[in-house]
Amino acid sequence: MQHPLTLPQALNLVGGRGRAAASGRELPMISPIDGQPFAAIADSGPEDIDAAVAAARAALAGDWGRLTAAERGRLMLRLALLIEAEAEPLAALETRDNGKPIAQSRADMAALARYFEYYGGAADKLHGEVIPFLNGHDATARREPHGVTGHIIPWNYPVQIFGRSVGAALAMGNATVTKPAEDACLTILRIGELAGQAGFPPGAINIVTGRGEVAGKALSEHPGVDFISFTGSPEVGQAIQIAAARNHVPCTLELGGKSPQIVFEDADLEAAAPVITNAIVQNGGQTCSAGSRVLIQRGIWDRLTAMLADRFRAVEASPAEGALLGPLISARQKARVERYIAEAGAPLIARGRVAADAPAGGFYVAPALFGPVDPRIPLAQEEIFGPILAAIPFDSEAEAIAIANGTEYGLVAGIWTRDGDRQARVANAMRCGQVFINAYGAGGGIELPFGGLRKSGHGREKGFAALYEFSRLKTIVHRYA
Ligand code: NAD
Repeated sequence: MQHPLTLPQALNLVGGRGRAAASGRELPMISPIDGQPFAAIADSGPEDIDAAVAAARAALAGDWGRLTAAERGRLMLRLALLIEAEAEPLAALETRDNGKPIAQSRADMAALARYFEYYGGAADKLHGEVIPFLNGHDATARREPHGVTGHIIPWNYPVQIFGRSVGAALAMGNATVTKPAEDACLTILRIGELAGQAGFPPGAINIVTGRGEVAGKALSEHPGVDFISFTGSPEVGQAIQIAAARNHVPCTLELGGKSPQIVFEDADLEAAAPVITNAIVQNGGQTCSAGSRVLIQRGIWDRLTAMLADRFRAVEASPAEGALLGPLISARQKARVERYIAEAGAPLIARGRVAADAPAGGFYVAPALFGPVDPRIPLAQEEIFGPILAAIPFDSEAEAIAIANGTEYGLVAGIWTRDGDRQARVANAMRCGQVFINAYGAGGGIELPFGGLRKSGHGREKGFAALYEFSRLKTIVHRYA
């Protein structure tokens, strides 16, 4: 499959220009669809990060820093339109690069455009405050950009995470340096090109590809970076937080989850079953907010697990245009998910299948539903990042709350019940950053503040909350005679 875009191969975007890694080194890009190399990216080092941070700093002191908030917003809206106009080839490129089904890639491009629209529209609407203070004094608190913001992005939703993180940072007037994931980053590079066409001054958006432990590490440790936004694994998140602490700069961490959906006996199961299935099968379960645990009240256990089993059996992992489930991102991720399946430690209720015509070298895994799962075992505790659902029975509301809150993560929860009192009680009891009642939004919600606690990370992105994260308050007191 060929994508119709001509890509500048193996170039970073630094100061508005395409630049090869200073070392000249490249990394091959492997398509998850067939396991074959199809492109190359720059294998950047600390000197490339230095150049990008310097370009961002120069942009702040130059044309980018001089723009009004309204002018920044207008550029972002222009970029949103360019993304919409090129959505189809961008989606085709994303599917080649990341493996996700084309419908998901199209949804990602729509979300990316919407992030630039949302944050572009917000750029000139976040006011500061006038604070009542002493007579003869005007006290104001205004929002200022941090300066140079670093964005380390994973491979699961490259463009959505770029949009939510870089979009909010640009709206507040920061200059950005992005290190996308080495497993999937070509579409982000193309967005960087489109930003040039939209009229962004050089250096506002810099993109440096490469390995996490080299380029990512150099960005997180760079003394010229004023703020770090990281999405990825808890282990790397911890290293990022330590690096930020060494430089005395703030960071947001979005590190994934083990999000539960709790289904009570009075729930509308016909409505719940497709949403529960989709919340773990979508994007191959490689979604930080994937609904990877379903807690089922004992009286509906047989009925709901049978409904979910039917849906799981019908899912075929395939590169086909209309597939719900494509390949996983890499051979490594496939091996990791297969290990969890082999060592599940719980009965298998149902398994989907891999399409007979799926390329043998691709990274396909059939979805699996396990249950009853002991809530203490790894299958119910660890983030697998694959299409595996752990079904856990419960008797009382109190037991459901204890199980739902009983992991080291706390990102999203779903509650399925018609009882309004119970909806409020359980939603308030959830230890996480987002709760859905009779709905579930894995990966969605541009307008909704999003983030977690403990091993799911801290700080909030999406919605207006991100604009507060990507800016800081300055209080000015003016005494007059
Ligand atoms: P990762 O944390 O290693 O990678 C995420 C990003 O961090 C990539 O851009 C990577 O290049 C960069 N990175 C890696 N090491 C770094 C370092 N030492 N310093 C700075 N940056 C570094 O994640 P992964 O290895 O791609 O995936 C492993 C697991 O992480 C997954 O199985 C999943 O459980 C979890 N994960 C979560 C999310 C999420 O959205 N929360 C996304 C991807 C992966």
